[in-house]
Amino acid sequence: MTAAAIPPGSTIGILGAGQLGRMTALAAAELGYRTVVLTPEEDAPASHVSALTIHADYTDEAALAHLARVADVVTLEFENVPAEAVSFLESLGKPVRPGSRVLAVAQDRVAEKDFARSIGGGTAPYEKVDTLKALIPALERIGRPSVLKTRRMGYDGKGQRIIAHRDNPVEAWDAIGGKPAILEGFVKFNREISVIVARGLDGAVRAYVPVENRHREHILAETIAPAPISRELAKQAESLAARLATQLDLVGLLAVEMFVTDDGRILVNELAPRPHNSGHWTIDACMVSQFEQLVRAVCGLPLGSPERHADAVMSNLLGDDVERWPEFMKEPNARLHLYGKAEARKGRKMGHVTRLTPRNDRR
Ligand code: AMP
Repeated sequence: MTAAAIPPGSTIGILGAGQLGRMTALAAAELGYRTVVLTPEEDAPASHVSALTIHADYTDEAALAHLARVADVVTLEFENVPAEAVSFLESLGKPVRPGSRVLAVAQDRVAEKDFARSIGGGTAPYEKVDTLKALIPALERIGRPSVLKTRRMGYDGKGQRIIAHRDNPVEAWDAIGGKPAILEGFVKFNREISVIVARGLDGAVRAYVPVENRHREHILAETIAPAPISRELAKQAESLAARLATQLDLVGLLAVEMFVTDDGRILVNELAPRPHNSGHWTIDACMVSQFEQLVRAVCGLPLGSPERHADAVMSNLLGDDVERWPEFMKEPNARLHLYGKAEARKGRKMGHVTRLTPRNDRR
């Protein structure tokens, strides 16, 4: 334990109160911590399992000051919390982990890719496109097909548009709302993988095994753990993720989404400095889950073992899928997790099922 450890019995503040906050709060409770969440949302999933909910906008300074009074440390469950909120908490002397420096990189797709390159990571070819005028020459250099994405606030395929050979770039620019953007070359990937690493206050880093992610309509549908890739590629992906976390001086979790190309290269697509949907399987299949690892990291405790004791396939329950819960409960090797959301809107993440099989190291 580091000198600055925040011991069990203390209170962890969380910005945001969705399912990631909920599973963090549950892991915190297992280690004897209390959680307080700040969210503008009514009846948020993490509110059901936290000691206190502060209902407010993220920029409400009185609410943030309240959070700073009751919490010993603050973390976050999504990287798009306004930077001012985090800086304000820091100005009150409250540790926020990960802090504003990490968020400045992770909130901006251009900064993210610049950073990945600066530490020797590969990315798709890309260019910053802040205006429609800049899009045309950028498109000539990057070529088609390419993907135009807003620099900020994009998730689950929102705020992005493919520009194929016959597409009108002006339409793509309008479709993403005419906001500062990044233009990326379209990667013909073989598979999408991600690695989640935890980094402690003392700089220790632990990586979970790389997993494969399959999407439907831009939303994660399934995570396969471990990813069916060679040991060598898995090592490369893990060490790249560890280097990113270390060079960011991050305390907490970093999820690194990557493409594996046909010729076996790894390209960084996105960084998320928080628990990640592709790490939900760790609750049921690993010694210490990503959520407990986050609690340990932000509280300055030793990190736990990310070792898996089983292989797993995690399936998200999106929208109406959740109605099949009685079926999943009957499966002997399935673990069901429901997030307590009242309304099953289309594509909404309502829960997940993790199916376990004995660990198999022959790959
Ligand atoms: P993102 O919001 O950047 O995670 O992108 C959402 C999904 O779009 C990714 O998981 C990929 O399936 C796809 N995608 C994003 N960027 C590219 C790219 N440069 N080339 C090919 N597919 C991409």
